[in-house]
Amino acid sequence: MIDFHCHLDLYPDPHGVARDCVAQKIYVLSVTNTPSAWRGTAALAREAPRIRTALGLHPQIAHERRGELALFEQLLPETRYVGEIGLDGGLEYKRHWLDQCQVFTRILEMCARAGGRIMTLHSRRATTPVLDALEMHPGAGVPILHWFSGTQKELARAVALGCWFSVGPAMLIGEKGRALVAKMPTDRLLTESDGPFAQLEGRSAFPWDTARVLSDLAMVWSESTTRVEERLRDNLRRLGGPEG
Ligand code: MN
Repeated sequence: MIDFHCHLDLYPDPHGVARDCVAQKIYVLSVTNTPSAWRGTAALAREAPRIRTALGLHPQIAHERRGELALFEQLLPETRYVGEIGLDGGLEYKRHWLDQCQVFTRILEMCARAGGRIMTLHSRRATTPVLDALEMHPGAGVPILHWFSGTQKELARAVALGCWFSVGPAMLIGEKGRALVAKMPTDRLLTESDGPFAQLEGRSAFPWDTARVLSDLAMVWSESTTRVEERLRDNLRRLGGPEG
């Protein structure tokens, strides 16, 4: 199993979840919301070769944490993975839009200067501005749009720009989400839980809940779950993820 966007550090028992991931041999991209959380979160992966830790600055708190950009720059050489970063166009975050854009742009510039990073991106109600920023910073690395919720037209643009996608259980519940997933390139797709934020049946999602995405993808792609797993494993290897 692969969980390419999970907030391991935000579960009530992060060490327990990390141990369970090790036991179940799950490949995890453990994302952070602030640079100051990076070291502690990276420590969760010390005995876990399949867990990698991404350096992030979440758009919803960009206005409060922009002072940590210097720390971001200092830590960037230590990891190949960046996230969670991006933009949030939701009403409650729109008033900090300028901060969000400045922080996101600065991070893309730093990634480009560092030779590119594998980036997991938040683009809620902001797909077009996120794609605009990526287009302006082609050297920033490989963008993975997590929980993509844009339009079909935006999806086509993202595909043309070379974006990857990480798909969680909630995306495949509705008709709109399934139609989007059906149009995503099968060779640029990974699974995610977005736990503990994402909810499944009234509780937090866990990395092993990505198992159900496999069966949903098997339906969307009309192939066996074994074949789906092979594809995802190939994708991870090509991306140069924890297995590569
Ligand atoms: Mn997230």
